[in-house]
Amino acid sequence: MRIFEKIADLQGWLAQRREAGYSIGFAPTMGALHEGHLSLVRMAEAAGDVPVVSIFVNPTQFNDPEDLRRYPRMPEHDIALLQTAGCQALFMPDVEEVYPPGQDLTVRLDFGRLTEVMEGQFRPGHFQGMATVVKRLLDIVEPQRLYMGQKDFQQLTIVREMLRRLALPIELVMCPTVREPDGLAMSSRNLRLTPEMRAAAPALFRTLMAAGKAFLAGTSTADIQQAALQTLHSAGLRPEYFEIVDGYTLLPVAHPEASPFVVACVAAWAGDVRLIDNLVLKEERQQQ
Ligand code: AMP
Repeated sequence: MRIFEKIADLQGWLAQRREAGYSIGFAPTMGALHEGHLSLVRMAEAAGDVPVVSIFVNPTQFNDPEDLRRYPRMPEHDIALLQTAGCQALFMPDVEEVYPPGQDLTVRLDFGRLTEVMEGQFRPGHFQGMATVVKRLLDIVEPQRLYMGQKDFQQLTIVREMLRRLALPIELVMCPTVREPDGLAMSSRNLRLTPEMRAAAPALFRTLMAAGKAFLAGTSTADIQQAALQTLHSAGLRPEYFEIVDGYTLLPVAHPEASPFVVACVAAWAGDVRLIDNLVLKEERQQQ
């Protein structure tokens, strides 16, 4: 695996791979890697792409400076994992390389509701920062395919919209959420859970599964939401939201029969760690 800190060096190497006829599959990350991140690399490899990963803790997407400061950083551990997973190039730039002083690279697209609901409501500015760094990294790497996790469902929805609005010729591949054996979605933030909160955290997934069952049984979305919030509280978590939304518009779903794609999304605090998760409740494939 090649490791690059400078854009010019990475681009030189990518140009050679392209000339040799390879397509590039890119997975942006913030490091502290786990099996969830590695699954993106494996999916890129399985699709025949040259897997390229970036590790960049993007300051512009943290609305809470304390969260940025505490974000785990473990480059040696990450490099060892990526090597075993088949990653071919790792881009680890510093902040000045990504955001050259004096240049304003902010993405100012108006995503409307997509950035206002759920995460957007509790993390102001987060998605503009996320869109900015993803666009910047895409401009640098110019991949054929972009691999992102379903775990961050709203993020993926906004990136899909950004690709569409900017007409970027990049295929977005949604990768299923990788979980611990007890159902907890893998996340770099799990490292900061106390033993007590680690034991409570699988309630997120249990709540989503219960919602899935109730949804199939025809329970109203309002009742599902209320039961879910109660379960999360009882488990010792502090939920911020539990929403049942249309998977494209992120609008709340009151009449599931009218929506072909329905997703339950949850965010809750486990002590001082904020966790998110989601589950697709309904996905009707569009007829081609
Ligand atoms: P992060 O480093 O948290 O910004 O995540 C980088 C990428 O990995 C994003 O596309 C995430 O959605 C994805 N990801 C994070 N956790 C998981 C997981 N448990 N399963 C699948 N993908 C994940």
